Amino acid sequence: MVKKVDHIGVAVKDLEETIKFYTDILGMDLQGTEVVEEQKVKVAFLPIGDSEMELLESTEKDGPIAKFIEKKGQGIQHIAYRVDDIEKSIEELKAKGIKMIDEKPRYGAGGAKIAFLHPKSTHGVLVEICQRD
Ligand code: ZN
Repeated sequence: MVKKVDHIGVAVKDLEETIKFYTDILGMDLQGTEVVEEQKVKVAFLPIGDSEMELLESTEKDGPIAKFIEKKGQGIQHIAYRVDDIEKSIEELKAKGIKMIDEKPRYGAGGAKIAFLHPKSTHGVLVEICQRD
């Protein structure tokens, strides 16, 4: 069902400072940033090989990323796997007994269609599936 790791989402407190680590220290390129209002988050994209790192900074005190950092601190927040047909994948996952956070795809950063699986169904990792056309 899944094709590859599309991206790794990292929750950070200070986007600008974190970007410096990935670019100046690790030598990655910053492709751009985008604010996703619906998720109260500012995202920075740093491609690496066939995948990318997505750095996520909350734009609001009550956003999901702010809450994540409050509970767990900064760090990896989710792993996203690429799928070809997200609607079909959601149906397949549900048929296999997986609890979905998103029963329907929504729009994520970079114009992707995304859906999250519930961590209760994934042994603790917040898993996203992601379709890019
Ligand atoms: Zn993601």
